[in-house]
Amino acid sequence: MRDFTNKLVLVTGAGSGIGRATALAFARRGARLALVDLREEGVLETAARARDGGREASAHLVDVSDADAVMALASRIEAEHGVVDVLVNNAGIGAAGRFLDTRLETFRRVMDVNLMGVVHGCRAFLPSMVARGQGGHVVNTASLAGYVAAAEMPAYATSKFAVVGFSESLRADMARHGIGVTAICPGIIDTDIVRTTVFEGVPEERAARGRIESFYRRRGYGPDRVAENLIAAVEANTALRPISPESWAMYYAKRLVPGLVGRLSAQDNPFVR
Ligand code: NAD
Repeated sequence: MRDFTNKLVLVTGAGSGIGRATALAFARRGARLALVDLREEGVLETAARARDGGREASAHLVDVSDADAVMALASRIEAEHGVVDVLVNNAGIGAAGRFLDTRLETFRRVMDVNLMGVVHGCRAFLPSMVARGQGGHVVNTASLAGYVAAAEMPAYATSKFAVVGFSESLRADMARHGIGVTAICPGIIDTDIVRTTVFEGVPEERAARGRIESFYRRRGYGPDRVAENLIAAVEANTALRPISPESWAMYYAKRLVPGLVGRLSAQDNPFVR
């Protein structure tokens, strides 16, 4: 898919970071937007920016972990705006801390949002995309943590490995319908994600959060660059797309020197401890 003029692009987690940047990048290419988020202020702001640029944009307050709410959203969007052409399942949350310090409740919430949110989006929107028979594209936001699982992020990495696996299977399934599926795997991206990440069993949590936030800022790879890479991956119908140099480096390192990656993953993270 290369021409996004008047195409309907739905983005979850559109109120901040990668979701907002992706929505606005599609808007600049002429797309109509359906924007979904938990937080009202952010999603309204993204919609306002798209409208300022002359695009049609609707904003929807939905928790992607709620299967029924996502189903109801699909009925509403299809009735009001038509069938989605590009579905971007991007909403996600972070969690940091070793496995034995991670509460079961945290593990479940991370899986419910990061994995089941993606599954709910696909269950709700794909039937009409398939029935219409005009193709389309699904983008699922995974992560560098979708192929390298450091010791400090068991729940997050589990959810993102699962998004990669789900996307691969869905891609094989949807090919016969002309619907492309891409998993994007960004590295360290300067967004709000650290601010909302749950930290467990981390000594001096405030200091750790501050160190990580400032590292992400200094790293300086912004969500706009992710959005441009994401759209390039849709245009090329790429199966899995690492985004940012560290994500590419770890993608190859995992294949070429897996033992070294394993040893690095087991080290104490200097930002956390
Ligand atoms: P962000 O916190 O800036 O944006 C996430 C957005 O998702 C927020 O607006 C939030 O309100 C929304 N959201 C959270 N839970 C939701 C729910 N249950 N239902 C609906 N909306 C919800 O973070 P971001 O960095 O832009 O993250 C976007 C995606 O990118 C996530 O899936 C994240 O895991 C992934 N990612 C981020 C990075 C990074 O370094 N920032 C790296 C790799 C992958």
